[in-house]
Amino acid sequence: MTFLVAALTLLAAAAATPAPVVADRIFINGRVWTGDPARPRATALAVEGDALTAVGSDAEVRRLAGPRTETVDLKGRFVAPGFNDAHIHFLVIETVDLAQVWSVAEIQRRIRDYAAAHKEKPWVVGRGWFYGAFPGGLPHRRMLDEAVPDRPAFMTGYDGHTGWANSKALALAGITRDTPDPIGGAIVKDESGEPTGVLKEAAQRLVRRLVPEPTDDDRHQGLRRRLAQAASYGLTSVQNASFQAAELPVYERVLAEGGLKVRVYWAIPFLKDVPTADLARFKELRTKYTGPVIKFGAAKGMIDGVVESKTAAMFDEYVGGGGAGQLNWTDEDLFRTAALYDREGFQIFFHAIGDRAIDQALRAFEHAAKANGTSGRRHRIEHVEVPRLADLERFKALGVIASTQALFTNPDKNTLEVYAVNLGPERASRAMPFKSIDDAGVTQAFGSDSPVFSMETLTGIYAAATRTTPEGTPAGGWQPHERISVEAALRHFTVDAAYASFEERRKGTLGVGRLADFVVLSDDILVPPVERVLRTKVLLTVMGGRDTFRAPEF
Ligand SMILES: [Zn+2]
Repeated sequence: MTFLVAALTLLAAAAATPAPVVADRIFINGRVWTGDPARPRATALAVEGDALTAVGSDAEVRRLAGPRTETVDLKGRFVAPGFNDAHIHFLVIETVDLAQVWSVAEIQRRIRDYAAAHKEKPWVVGRGWFYGAFPGGLPHRRMLDEAVPDRPAFMTGYDGHTGWANSKALALAGITRDTPDPIGGAIVKDESGEPTGVLKEAAQRLVRRLVPEPTDDDRHQGLRRRLAQAASYGLTSVQNASFQAAELPVYERVLAEGGLKVRVYWAIPFLKDVPTADLARFKELRTKYTGPVIKFGAAKGMIDGVVESKTAAMFDEYVGGGGAGQLNWTDEDLFRTAALYDREGFQIFFHAIGDRAIDQALRAFEHAAKANGTSGRRHRIEHVEVPRLADLERFKALGVIASTQALFTNPDKNTLEVYAVNLGPERASRAMPFKSIDDAGVTQAFGSDSPVFSMETLTGIYAAATRTTPEGTPAGGWQPHERISVEAALRHFTVDAAYASFEERRKGTLGVGRLADFVVLSDDILVPPVERVLRTKVLLTVMGGRDTFRAPEF
């Protein structure tokens, strides 16, 4: 008690006579959105080391300028807390990206361009193609031979279940008309019995095992490129839903070089009855990395699949046949394992898309809280695409975070012609229900799910606020009753994303003592019309007081 009184007295004294703090840099004459409801707007910031020492008016902040202080005139530009992508697969190795490509010619063009730019690579590897891009729903080795005639090539489908090899790759793997299907896999063959190059499930391994492992230098180069890209989008934090142990030393190396341009919160795997040795390793990571640059503490599990392939678990059947999807776990296994991670203090991320999967995830959290008497774990459901709206109350009651993806509402061909059709009108009307989630008082953190979708935060904000494509289609937006304001979307990419990794006291808002993570934009995105968001450019990204991106025009 005495200590507390002494501490409070000290604090009061500090408030009465401000210490003569001098700032490294001050930023003045801006339009600052702080994310803090107590003081939502300011015009200036002061940075000392990696933290903010003042956020206020130009006059207040100028007082901190000393002879060695650099003054940056923001010229009326908009400033927000650095963007935080709450669900990303921060892939380090750059391969051909075939996501969202809908014509064979365009797929071939991307592969050809990549191969031409990477002549040194013995294999051409890529990922992300959609079944619907190919006539009949599957690719053929001849299409890949046309793009890559000189080297083996292998492209994995967006869901990871199907691979596509060219003739050179098949030959290297020794796959011929006589090769039998391996256990748990299928070598697709045409009417004449020749392999088509499509390898399903475990058959992919016949080829994939031949692809050379990336070296540490490949990973190092890849990570540096990816970090530069993230910073150029205004990102200062990401929450990585994929953990690959081999990548951690590369992050360490880039960190030691002073080049780690985003903070990373990692999710380790959620394994059935997590074996003791794995658990020990996960806890070690959590003890060693507590932030604010690298942090562990979450575990990610998969409850179901996706709507496009009708593998997301629904209460009712999909439209056009194909069942109602399936759950990856029995209640018994899931509840026991969730209780184990919860007891060990891990935050759990459950990928759950269908209403039935979301219900099962919520029941697992309810069970864990009851079994362990725990609270405040901030467990999360990732994607939350098609919940029963009544279940949003359960999120609120349990303190479960809805970790959703802004760009999933972009009503492109995939959304309108596959996704919405599979769901049918009633379920489509409650798909990605961002507004309902907010109205229910649930904490909603936005992410991109890159590389499935782009990690450009501003594009995501636009999609959530309009539910139209950047071209403005469909007129009025897709399920427009679930649109949210630009400010709400911005909040989900900053304040709420910070809460989702237990870091709201360090970042997500701009205030004294917070990390100096912020982004300067060319326009005030909070001023209508909403189309302004699309025209807005990231001019400067600052992470921990250091510039991680600066546009040439700034
Ligand atoms: Zn994901």
